Amino acid sequence: MAKHIFVTGGVASSLGKGITAASLGRLLKSRGLRVTLQKLDPYINVDPGTMNPFEHGEVFVTDDGSETDLDLGHYERFVDVPLRRSSSVTTGSIYQNVIARERRGDYLGKTVQVIPHVTDEIKSRVRDLATEDVDVVITEVGGTVGDIEILPFIEAIRQFRKDIGRDNVCYIHLTLVPYLGTSGEQKTKPTQHSVTELRSRGIQPDVIVCRSSKPIADSVKQKISMLCDVSEEAVISAIDVSNLYEVPRLLHEEGLDEYVCSLLRFDAEKLVLDLASWNQMAERANNLSSTVKIGIIGKYVNLPDAYLSVVEALKHGGLHEGAAVEIEWISAEAVTPLLAEARLEGLDGIVIPGGFGPRGIDGKITAASYAREHKIPCLGICLGLQAMVIDYARNVCDLDGAHSREFNPSTPFPVIDLMEDQRVVENLGGTMRLGTYVAMLDPKSKTAKYYGAEVVEERHRHRFEVNPRYRSKLVDSGLTISGLSPDGRLVEFIELNDHPFWIGTQAHPEFKSRPDRPHPLFRGLIEQAMYRHRSREANEQPNNGSGVTSIKPTHKQHNGTNALVVAE
Ligand code: GLN
Repeated sequence: MAKHIFVTGGVASSLGKGITAASLGRLLKSRGLRVTLQKLDPYINVDPGTMNPFEHGEVFVTDDGSETDLDLGHYERFVDVPLRRSSSVTTGSIYQNVIARERRGDYLGKTVQVIPHVTDEIKSRVRDLATEDVDVVITEVGGTVGDIEILPFIEAIRQFRKDIGRDNVCYIHLTLVPYLGTSGEQKTKPTQHSVTELRSRGIQPDVIVCRSSKPIADSVKQKISMLCDVSEEAVISAIDVSNLYEVPRLLHEEGLDEYVCSLLRFDAEKLVLDLASWNQMAERANNLSSTVKIGIIGKYVNLPDAYLSVVEALKHGGLHEGAAVEIEWISAEAVTPLLAEARLEGLDGIVIPGGFGPRGIDGKITAASYAREHKIPCLGICLGLQAMVIDYARNVCDLDGAHSREFNPSTPFPVIDLMEDQRVVENLGGTMRLGTYVAMLDPKSKTAKYYGAEVVEERHRHRFEVNPRYRSKLVDSGLTISGLSPDGRLVEFIELNDHPFWIGTQAHPEFKSRPDRPHPLFRGLIEQAMYRHRSREANEQPNNGSGVTSIKPTHKQHNGTNALVVAE
């Protein structure tokens, strides 16, 4: 039977419950356990698909096409398990089910209530993950204890231990231990209050993970242990780090995984931890020999979480190529033809990420155009590919006014459009192409060379497609369509031959990049960005690239950047 770990948070939001859950998942997996993860989110949206990235960060898409919280991205990156819809549970989705069952008469005329009907539904969602092939389910409860919305979840996880037995459940509570500079002390009071709040709901935490700017002093651990009634070894110090991939090692050094294993009656001695390759990967981030500057031309540049997986995928590419990736956040609205040179020329590479709605689309098209003409390595993701196609249609194929019908329904040349069968559907919500789809690559393309494969699978989240009516026009003018859906109807990848790297994909490759398995397109982009960086340093002409060059990073002296730099 699978064991369950519940991670709650107190004192403040954004303490890193997701990273804590993901890091513990990595540690348990590295001990040979089969781990899966889940997030319970207390908001009423049925899923985050409709939420503004400004408020909630990126929408992470799983293989089965569910639109989920960005913490699932952390789980997949750290634990490297593909998650499914069942890993993302919101209050909205719980109520949707409960109300549907009530309408069907499943409750046999009973008064439907939070306890037991809503809590039972929550528990059944948790149990759904405990399949035969899973040893440990880690469930993160979103929000902060004390929030009104979180109560049904707390009650459900409280009951869970009673239902399946004391040794099968572990409660981990993450809190903040602030350091007061004026008195030079680490303060435990917020932790005490937060644990009191949790206890008032019937949960006594087994482990307290303390987020802090400095390691928690032993005397402070003793105090928390005594006042919150957990054993001293169960007070775990989680200090701030700039390189998230170091967190599993740090938590292990604090004894977290060993303690959790003993609590859940796993034989920690038999389950030997093998974290060597993970640690080597994390360590590489501290010893990168060069830096590349990548511009992200986005709409939500004030909230980098809106592009979290893109940023992580860039870092993964950098880790592999030996380069620290410095991100320059460029508001798409600021990329006008007049200002394009000033904004873009100094970059080593460009990412045009996905997006919805017209704001910033002109800047994205201008960036695609500038990157094409000035041979700046450029990766277009979803809307990014569409911007590239619009640029190509307008500026190379002379289709003046070409556009996507998403932004200009009366464009004379709708090079991006809904497919015929989609146009008749009135509710656009139903027409999104979501989740994993197969693409067949042109074996001669750079895209295929980067992937090292001719059949690939990527996750999608979009409505519009390259309009088949304009395909031959684009191809005749020199655009390479390097990947198609298996039936040949949908354009999945495009590229240019006479450019070092101008590749667009209708998919979202960032979701499948892992720190120890960088996505080939992000690697390729960083590789070409490094090439441009070095050629510019050497004052040479950039590579005019008529093929995929495999460039090994030169190991110049360390430039003092000791981590993955993310400039804001
Ligand atoms: N808005 C575009 C579409 O729906 C692109 C979506 C995206 O970039 N994820 O097709």
